[in-house]
Amino acid sequence: MNAGQPVHGGGADGPSVDTMHAESRPATAGATTPGSTAASETAAARTPGSETPGSETPGSATAMVFDGPGRPHRAVAVEPGPPGAGELHVAIEFATVCGSDVHTALGHRDEPTPLVLGHEAVGRVVAAGSEAPASVGDRVVCSVAVHCGDCDRCARGIPQKCRRLRKYGHSEFSDDWPLSGGFATHARLLPGTPVVVVGEELPAAVLAPAGCGIATAWAALAAAERIRPLAGADVLVTGGGLIGLAATAMAVERGARVTVSDPDSERRELARRFGAASAIDPRDPVRDSSAGRPPGSPAALDGFDIVLDASGAPGAVAAGLAAVATGGTVVWAGSVFPTDPVPIVPERIVRGLVTIAGVHNYAPSDLEGAVRFLQRHGRRLPFAELVGEVFPLERIDAALVRAAERREIRVGVVPASR
Ligand SMILES: [Zn+2]
Ligand SMILES: [Zn+2]
Repeated sequence: MNAGQPVHGGGADGPSVDTMHAESRPATAGATTPGSTAASETAAARTPGSETPGSETPGSATAMVFDGPGRPHRAVAVEPGPPGAGELHVAIEFATVCGSDVHTALGHRDEPTPLVLGHEAVGRVVAAGSEAPASVGDRVVCSVAVHCGDCDRCARGIPQKCRRLRKYGHSEFSDDWPLSGGFATHARLLPGTPVVVVGEELPAAVLAPAGCGIATAWAALAAAERIRPLAGADVLVTGGGLIGLAATAMAVERGARVTVSDPDSERRELARRFGAASAIDPRDPVRDSSAGRPPGSPAALDGFDIVLDASGAPGAVAAGLAAVATGGTVVWAGSVFPTDPVPIVPERIVRGLVTIAGVHNYAPSDLEGAVRFLQRHGRRLPFAELVGEVFPLERIDAALVRAAERREIRVGVVPASR
């Protein structure tokens, strides 16, 4: 399914709304909210900037504002004003709900509130400031984060950990930056935000997740390839969600043989369709000397050359450590929420010449690589099928409830007027 399918309306076929997320009110501009927090209902207009001639200031935008776990989103009208130098105003075409949105909604991770969630989206530029990275009319995706470009971390090549990093969908809703997330009709992309013009070919549902899950998969493989090439490597991917599936397809394209481990049979089947040579249930009895190894694997007897955890599950992380070959690399990308610790036997790492790398956020080049990969393979592979139910923006609470049920890889969200 993709963005062209009928959206999930307000009918009885949607999931019942639990106590975590009561139904939100319609997203009408200028809606008022009883008991609202410090956020203003109509955020201040931006300081007039030096926008490109031809840019049009978008009319009123609507942001769905999250006030904390257990509280419904509220629709807040925002007057964006003209874009400043280097800024883009983007009309959201389609957004997807990432697992971290769900974790925040459930209170499993702390974020400043109020805020506008959503950091996987594709949209169209409706206004561009001078020296902005795209033009009015361009269809774009953007990085999950914007970095300053001149702090010590930016200087040493880890802009994703910039001292002044600001992240879409993770920043406090404020007059300074009200349109900071994907669950809105519009977003304001700050100067310096990595942006990729994506063209018109691919369905929005394929492109929207590029800015988080798919770019993270690209970054995880880049981390692995700093140690050894993927060509000819035997790779274990633990976790068959978006990062794991995308990484599987990318690794196979570069000549790796990939095994995916996931307890969900539907995800194992998806993994095969994304090119995995085998897909295993981690709960199956181990029939090999290396934990997690599929029976009959042609991998070198001592394990996998590259192990990528995309699940964040402590058991999967531990199994991956046990399954890595001598001289192998372990990349952790899924552990973005607090979990129990995982025991590590230092001698195993030392004698096994094992490298462990963490990947979080990603560099601008990773977003570019992810989009180019989608442009080459986004139609051949079943990326569009990863988005199941699609909800109108004003039903964002129901979309988050649905996403928390993990019935599909991604839930879609579209502004109601589209
Ligand atoms: Zn994400
Ligand atoms: Zn910086």
